[in-house]
Amino acid sequence: MRMARIWAENSYCQRRQVGALVVKDKMIISDGYNGTPTGFENVCEDENNVSKPYVLHAEANAITKLARSNNNSDGATIYITASPCIECAKLIIQAGIKRVVYGEKYRLTDGIDLLKRAGIEVIFLEV
Ligand SMILES: [Zn+2]
Repeated sequence: MRMARIWAENSYCQRRQVGALVVKDKMIISDGYNGTPTGFENVCEDENNVSKPYVLHAEANAITKLARSNNNSDGATIYITASPCIECAKLIIQAGIKRVVYGEKYRLTDGIDLLKRAGIEVIFLEV
């Protein structure tokens, strides 16, 4: 979890920095932090300091990075420095991830609720 926190510092987003690591068989198989897609400018917020709609969340970046690697997330654990949103929760379920460790509670719990409903082990770990 501390590593995920350090990884979050790579994010160039101003409003919020989130990091995610996917671990399988005690190895980190993917990583991500929130940011714009490859090839886009490294700016997450518009002139009104609102996050751009095409910013990817850290979890989404970590999972989609696996889609073009030789690894896969089936049965893996994901460490996220923040509570996953419902969109990322869907990706986590479909990626076959079995355990979610997250580090920051959010007022909306729909993502966490969905994960639990899918039978995924969810652990809150303060750092
Ligand atoms: Zn998300």
